[in-house]
Amino acid sequence: MNEQILTIVVPCYNEEAVLKETVTRLRGVLMHACREQLIAKGSTLLLVDDGSSDHTWEIIEHYIEEYKEVTGLKLSRNFGHQNALIAGMETARPYSDCVITIDADLQDDVNAIKQFLIKYNEGFDIVYGVRDKRETDTFFKRNTARMFYGLMGHLGVKTVPNHADFRLLSRRVLDELIKYQEENIFLRGMIPLLGFKSTKVYYNRAERFAGESKYPLKKMLNFAVDGITSFSIAPIRIVTYLGASIVGIGFLIGVYALIQHFLGHVVTGWTSMILSIWLLGGIQLTAIGVIGEYIGKIFKETKHRPRYIIEKQLVASKNNRFEKQAL
Ligand code: UDP
Ligand code: MG
Repeated sequence: MNEQILTIVVPCYNEEAVLKETVTRLRGVLMHACREQLIAKGSTLLLVDDGSSDHTWEIIEHYIEEYKEVTGLKLSRNFGHQNALIAGMETARPYSDCVITIDADLQDDVNAIKQFLIKYNEGFDIVYGVRDKRETDTFFKRNTARMFYGLMGHLGVKTVPNHADFRLLSRRVLDELIKYQEENIFLRGMIPLLGFKSTKVYYNRAERFAGESKYPLKKMLNFAVDGITSFSIAPIRIVTYLGASIVGIGFLIGVYALIQHFLGHVVTGWTSMILSIWLLGGIQLTAIGVIGEYIGKIFKETKHRPRYIIEKQLVASKNNRFEKQAL
């Protein structure tokens, strides 16, 4: 008998269009894994409603009533994908031996979950789902993602290429992960920092089953800036070096100008002056912006605000795993 309790955490933000299919497929995977003795009976799905404005929560409640292995969590407002994941994982931790996170839109192959569990039973604490191909993503998304991960690598942030938030974590890993109390979370950068025995499972990424991407360009840009500035101080350093180099160049230009002055070649110099004003002004503004970005982070962290607020909770209880509790 396999005694391992699994919780599959699914963040859902306005996902009414896909939920039915998601729940059907994930329940199928759970039951299959149970029959194959990869996990214990009493393993559950935890649907986290990240403050949706459509009928997502009503649908979740309906499934909680209907199926004993479906549980749910409703956040009080939209806290963002990463916070919804943390909320789900922290909630599942006391009663789960391992947790798998997967997006609601079925872009990640649910059949890879079986491989995750095989690896987990072999003793791996972290299993990363890695996309084999990204053909189904738009050209734009594919390339911006590649640029982003390339840049992150150059800035010294270790991430697993082509891995999103589809992964398995053992309870040991979760115990350590929740000690990271920072408010700006970027799980893809944090988890490789934890260590432990890890492995990868490859799968093909499909298109979103239904509904629209909840990551419009603005959110994607914010995600990228957060990812970089939460993990690396390289941008500040680049600005410092840039500043120092410009001072050096300025000094040389100064010497040149003085020589010209004493030699009597008086130049009108309007062009060069205007150019310098704009160029330096631009550089200074950028530098201030980068510094401001970090100060903003410090400002946010010092407040120690909660990363999420739970409004309703219908989860499996620790002692009687089949009994759902409203906490
Ligand atoms: N999501 C969330 N809160 C948000 C935005 C997204 O919980 O504020 C969820 C969303 O429901 C989905 C997952 O995060 O399950 C990934 O979002 P999406 O598929 O829209 O992103 P994409 O695949 O387009 O990057
Ligand atoms: Mg998606």
